[in-house]
Amino acid sequence: MVTVRIRRAALESALEAANNTYPDEFIGIFRGKKEEDGASLTELIIAPFSTYGDGFSSYSDYHIPANVGALASFHSHPHPPALPSKGDLQFFSRSLPFHIISCPPFDGANAFDSRGKKIALEVV
Ligand SMILES: [Zn+2]
Repeated sequence: MVTVRIRRAALESALEAANNTYPDEFIGIFRGKKEEDGASLTELIIAPFSTYGDGFSSYSDYHIPANVGALASFHSHPHPPALPSKGDLQFFSRSLPFHIISCPPFDGANAFDSRGKKIALEVV
């Protein structure tokens, strides 16, 4: 089973940012390291050129800096469900290996692989 482990502080920063950005979408990236069965995410990176509120399409052109250990994207939806949209799936397929989505009330999140299949998210 593919599992993404995430440090509680990293997830909480992202959920808090999502809550603060609501009703706009918050976009971020988690760095960490690859594991045999998935990844361990340790830290939220917010790129200075992120644009919020333009919808997820702006994220498609989002430039992810090389060699920061970026392994997973994070974004919020203004409404449930925290499941990938069509646009999200397109982005997932040509981006990072893992993706995390949250939605109000921002008390949790779902993780997906690059094909949009739900995978385990374990808070550590
Ligand atoms: Zn989305």
